[in-house]
Amino acid sequence: MTNLVIIIIVMKKENILEIKNLNISFQMEDELARAVHGVELTLEKGKVLGIVGESGCGKSVTAMSIMKLLPSNAIIESGEILYNGVNLLNLSQNEMQKIRGSKISLIPQDPLTSLNPLYTVGEQIIETIEYHRGISRKEATEIAVESLKSVKIPEPENRLNDYPHQFSGGMRQRAIIAMALCCNPELIIADEPTTALDVTVQAQILDLIKQIQAERGTSLIFITHDLGVIAEFCNHVAVMYAGRIVEYAQVEDIFNNPLHPYTKGLLESLPSPDKEILNVIPGQPPAITENIPGCVFHPRCPYRMDICDKVDPVLTIKENNQQVYCHLYD
Ligand code: SF4
Repeated sequence: MTNLVIIIIVMKKENILEIKNLNISFQMEDELARAVHGVELTLEKGKVLGIVGESGCGKSVTAMSIMKLLPSNAIIESGEILYNGVNLLNLSQNEMQKIRGSKISLIPQDPLTSLNPLYTVGEQIIETIEYHRGISRKEATEIAVESLKSVKIPEPENRLNDYPHQFSGGMRQRAIIAMALCCNPELIIADEPTTALDVTVQAQILDLIKQIQAERGTSLIFITHDLGVIAEFCNHVAVMYAGRIVEYAQVEDIFNNPLHPYTKGLLESLPSPDKEILNVIPGQPPAITENIPGCVFHPRCPYRMDICDKVDPVLTIKENNQQVYCHLYD
């Protein structure tokens, strides 16, 4: 009798980042205000995770906690941020400084406040390379020129000697992207990187980030308030509201089968040529000091039920690992 041996090779997905039960508060005058509630996120190596939500929903606080760049009144109350299995929250600021810029880079919202006006753009990029790679000035300068070239800055050898104010807004953001890329990080966090730019420049910067991510296979977290941007190049999406993740899914599922009423509201408020009137979600997100009983979205939710202002919804997992916190699916 022939023994049939079936060997099943399971390709294990490798996660570069796992955030577990992250809770962050801010010390206000005489009270603690919770900005991030029990956030759980996973990013696979080489993939793009979009985090979307209105201003103040906790998306940037979550991102800054990965970089360990939270303001001094922030308190990480609990949770883990595992980068390649290492809990970043256990690292000292010195250890973190070695990771920041070399392994994990940030593309911030406003390039003007991220570049030092007193130093040339080249000086700032070269210094980053020297610090992390410990190579000669000549080699670091060559890498800086290549980085500026890769973000399509013309005549990079000359522009290296310019000060930030001699660059346009779009060029400054390109220079910041060059700085983020110069040490070949494994993970880039782009925090609303096009918000401070003109519409036409926004599209160019977005295309540039998309192209670089695809060419280098860098893992990317892309933070935005615009679901339309998410559609273009994210693999997974986490929708945040009032410090919580309310829905997490593959990008196709978010667009074809949104489950959470807030996700539906965000999609309905996207502009499109066949819409005469833009739908908006009524009301405002709560302030972080507000304590809302039950589902935190209930004051704005068109699907609200009796239970909603009494009981906080728990996680429901649907097909394709689509995750939602809403009593409609309990
Ligand atoms: Fe709306 Fe209730 Fe779902 Fe909250 S739990 S999103 S209030 S239906």
